[in-house]
Amino acid sequence: MKKCPFCAEDIQDDAIKCKHCGEFLIASQNPRLAEEKVEWYFRKSFIIIALCCVGPLALPLIWWHPQATRAWKIGLTIGILVFSWILFQLSIDAVQSIKAYYQLFDSL
Ligand SMILES: [Zn+2]
Repeated sequence: MKKCPFCAEDIQDDAIKCKHCGEFLIASQNPRLAEEKVEWYFRKSFIIIALCCVGPLALPLIWWHPQATRAWKIGLTIGILVFSWILFQLSIDAVQSIKAYYQLFDSL
């Protein structure tokens, strides 16, 4: 027997759903349980904000995330690296076209 974290009634160890209050006891079925157990820096909203601000530097948050599966970690890592690489190439192109404009002005 163990205690339900929501209503504190005794329930079976293998229980998926509490028979007293009806709450799911596995994290994948109960978002309240999932959100409460992880640290604030592992919340989805914080990871998305971090990725937008610092890009691939926020990848360790995904690697060390206790609930992310290996496939998700690899997929997200590749996706974010490819996306950052495209952004990097685009900014190099932008800098080079600005340089080209300045060279036009110099030659006048
Ligand atoms: Zn309960």
